[in-house]
Amino acid sequence: MPPVIGIDLGTSNSLCAVFDGGRPRLITNAHGEVLTPSIVGVDDKGQILVGATAKELRVTRPASCVWAFKRWMGTERRVEIAGREFGPQELSAMVLTSLKHDAEAALGETVHHAVITVPAYFNDNQRNATKVAGELAGLRVLRLLNEPTAAALTYGFHDRDAERRLIVIDLGGGTFDVTVMDVFQGTLEIISTAGEGMLGGEDFTDRLVAWVLDGRGLNLETAEMRQPLLVARLRRECEVAKCRLSDHSEASIRIPDMSGRFSDDCPIVTLDRSEFQRIVDPIVERLARPIGKAIRDSRLRPEDLQEVILAGGATRMWPVREFVEKYFGRPPVCTHDPDEVVALGAAVQAALMSDDAAVSDMVMTDICPFTLGVEICKEFGQSYADGYFLPVIHRNTTIPVSREQIVQTIRPNQQEVTLSIYQGDARKVKDNVLLGRLTVSGIPPGPSGLVVHVRFTYDINGILEVEAFVGGTTKHFSTVLTHNAKNLSKREIAAAVRLMQSVKFFPRDDVRNQRLVLFAERVVGEVGTFGRSEVEMALDQFEQAMASGEREWFYAARRGLLETLAAVGFPYDAGDDEETSHGDDDS
Ligand code: AMP
Repeated sequence: MPPVIGIDLGTSNSLCAVFDGGRPRLITNAHGEVLTPSIVGVDDKGQILVGATAKELRVTRPASCVWAFKRWMGTERRVEIAGREFGPQELSAMVLTSLKHDAEAALGETVHHAVITVPAYFNDNQRNATKVAGELAGLRVLRLLNEPTAAALTYGFHDRDAERRLIVIDLGGGTFDVTVMDVFQGTLEIISTAGEGMLGGEDFTDRLVAWVLDGRGLNLETAEMRQPLLVARLRRECEVAKCRLSDHSEASIRIPDMSGRFSDDCPIVTLDRSEFQRIVDPIVERLARPIGKAIRDSRLRPEDLQEVILAGGATRMWPVREFVEKYFGRPPVCTHDPDEVVALGAAVQAALMSDDAAVSDMVMTDICPFTLGVEICKEFGQSYADGYFLPVIHRNTTIPVSREQIVQTIRPNQQEVTLSIYQGDARKVKDNVLLGRLTVSGIPPGPSGLVVHVRFTYDINGILEVEAFVGGTTKHFSTVLTHNAKNLSKREIAAAVRLMQSVKFFPRDDVRNQRLVLFAERVVGEVGTFGRSEVEMALDQFEQAMASGEREWFYAARRGLLETLAAVGFPYDAGDDEETSHGDDDS
């Protein structure tokens, strides 16, 4: 069986794992790291940068970078960078391409197949968009796996004899998912799930940025437009402070000037954990609703859950942990790194699909996380009112599932019925998400009340097929809300493929050097006056040495730059730097 990689395509970071030698293992990227920031940037030559290098570019040139685009999946939003427009599928495809290349470098063979994780609460449009992104990256997506399910698979894999009910609290960069499940001797049964698509670690950072700006009489949205460099640098400071507060009692935030520069005597805000807690409390409170919903749907009480598992980098935050501990009355379990647990679970799923002997005793059942149905009219005396929602598949039904409902014509000789397909729990369709439409035509003449059978089939990827049969005829209509993301016609997909083909990626061999250049460029703007000229000189040397192709000079200049950066108080974490190559030279 050719390799199948497991990918956690996150809002902030993405990871790739593979099942190898009887266990899942993470794949490192060109920087020797397992986390690849889900950030895309374009350099001066129009080359695409992905990951840590793009994250570095974002600080000094935010207008050349895009991030958090997972939040736009399934929408038509597009963004222009370096004169070209990209949608969320293409941007995600660039991240996936980068991970694919990393996997190929690690495995020494081409990779064509992947399991990609999605938030459990991703709707059908968002799932389809993720699948399209995979295809644009040259990956056949064998399975879209819910992120909390993937996290549970990692725990299930490592502790197969366990017998318990557990809840996974998954707070990533941009989404929040809660899943209740039963683990019984290698069998993992998902019972219920709930979540919020717009709640994650990035909201905590944004809140902190807004708080700092507010203290200076500025508003985040306005500043983002008028002083983008100030916001970019401040966001980085706030992100670092937020993470620091996960293991320290205090953190400080330097405030750049209006042009985004840090002067020698720039103002510094110091905050402790309780201040941070106060600032982010309104966001923490939003965690309660999805948790309550998932538990209610499982017909269990919080005390029936034997283990609370954390997944997603944002669960490292102390206010989040404290909230979870208070809610359940016991500390959460975090045996596996919350950043890594989802990607590792995706690799376990890949092993299950490849019939790997190491997982032959594992079984997993998943559920449909939301209610799916059609719009109907209701009869009130002599008149009809439309806009009502008729559920066909109820949320938390075990999948794969096929369910049928009956709708009727409302007029004599009505020849056509248009089925509007929705997802959601609201009574009226205007409050639910429209997934698509299916027109049923050729209904034979007759009185009103003729029957149309509507069948929904929801597969293990969380993708829906809708079929309709006209009563008393052999007429059959169907639509699979699978292959195309919402509003993406075949022509649009072909255009996206062409766009992807025209994109030139920054050479993988050089991204480490480029990241160092961008880091040093950022330091130029942040360090004091004396340090600035030192760094500029070392950076000029390094750039010239890179262009010269002279090995000895290159290594000496690189060492010189690293030493200068450390000397001015900005040490660069070069990872496994010994391996850093000069161009194609992989010595
Ligand atoms: P994920 O999408 O799971 O990679 O989660 C990324 C989110 O977790 C981002 O918002 C990060 O800022 C946040 N995060 C990562 N590490 C930490 C940490 N040590 N403390 C607080 N938040 C963190």
